[in-house]
Amino acid sequence: MDCIFCKIANGEIPSNKVYEDETVLAFHDITPQAPVHVLVIPKQHISSMADITAENSAVVAHISEVIASLAKELGLENGFRVITNSGEDGAQSVKHLHFHVLGGKKLTEKMA
Ligand code: AMP
Repeated sequence: MDCIFCKIANGEIPSNKVYEDETVLAFHDITPQAPVHVLVIPKQHISSMADITAENSAVVAHISEVIASLAKELGLENGFRVITNSGEDGAQSVKHLHFHVLGGKKLTEKMA
């Protein structure tokens, strides 16, 4: 499958990693939209939040734990935002589930 985040997960394409374990990878976004902009992905290919089921949701719970821990490591004690874009109307450009973690400044209240 021609999926850029699968290639990042299996090391075919390099990334600026901040965290990795058996099922999850986190790396800096190539086009940061805040002083801290990290992407957290499951290593297994799941296209988007629309494809989460009882069978694969454990990795999403794990990603939540990883994000909480990473936020501390990245100095985001004052707060941060987590976004996952899904599908056409959600403006998802990479069709592999990913969570944007944004912070390092006071973000605007506008979300859409
Ligand atoms: P989305 O629009 O929610 O699908 O977000 C995709 C994100 O992936 C964007 O913020 C891109 O800047 C980011 N991105 C695309 N290619 C790479 C890459 N090779 N390394 C890191 N981030 C990437």
